[in-house]
Amino acid sequence: GPDGRPQLTAHHLTLTYGGFTALRDVTLTVPRGNVTAVVGPNGAGKSTLFHCLAGTLRPDTGRVTLGAHDITRLPAHARTRLGMARTFQQLAVFPSLTIAENVQVGAEQTLRSAPRATPRALRLLDLTHLHARPATGLPTGTLRRTELARALAGTPHTLLLDEPAAGLDAAETAALAVLLRALAADGMALLVVEHDLDLVADLADTVYVLAAGRVIATGPPHQVLAETRAAEGEHTG
Ligand code: ADP
Ligand code: MG
Repeated sequence: GPDGRPQLTAHHLTLTYGGFTALRDVTLTVPRGNVTAVVGPNGAGKSTLFHCLAGTLRPDTGRVTLGAHDITRLPAHARTRLGMARTFQQLAVFPSLTIAENVQVGAEQTLRSAPRATPRALRLLDLTHLHARPATGLPTGTLRRTELARALAGTPHTLLLDEPAAGLDAAETAALAVLLRALAADGMALLVVEHDLDLVADLADTVYVLAAGRVIATGPPHQVLAETRAAEGEHTG
């Protein structure tokens, strides 16, 4: 884009595991300055789509573009160097490293990290007072904040989050929503895969609803979430 922050787009992605089709013709855009959410019941294909965007899975057909660049075949680490960052659904902190060292890893994975990005990320996630503590034994909320700080330490323009509120209490979830909105307001492109529809309603500009590998609805949260809640009720009883 004109300000140097390219838009991430999935074009007609299809992905099959063995004989099982997990994504069918999925098209989605993650614009800068916005929070885009992907919701849907367990098994809908949310994590599979996330992996295709992050570069940890290749779609069978379709393309992923970042601005004018086709990144479909770029591995995850190359996408990181282009300014994309991600967090993991399962926590992926290094238990024996300190909080600051865990965050520093994110600055080292990218070529575009700003000076002092690590102290800034620690401060943004309220981790400065814990910087010298080993990660082992710290609560889930702290470790989730550490992962997000690590992603931000790379000074990304595009941030992909898989279930960022998993394991967080209500206060931590509310703080997360405030932070993610602030990052978007600052011009970042955010994609959030999230089970918590209340968080999505608070957070997202645009929601994509996935079911059985297809996009079945897209639009602002107030338009699409009522339907989604009804659909999830049917699935979960
Ligand atoms: P979600 O994140 O929405 O819960 P996933 O993308 O994890 O959904 O999974 C979509 C579908 O693909 C599910 O039916 C799941 O069982 C299947 N699946 C996911 N990963 C694999 C895999 N590695 N091998 C085979 N099937 C998989
Ligand atoms: Mg998942």
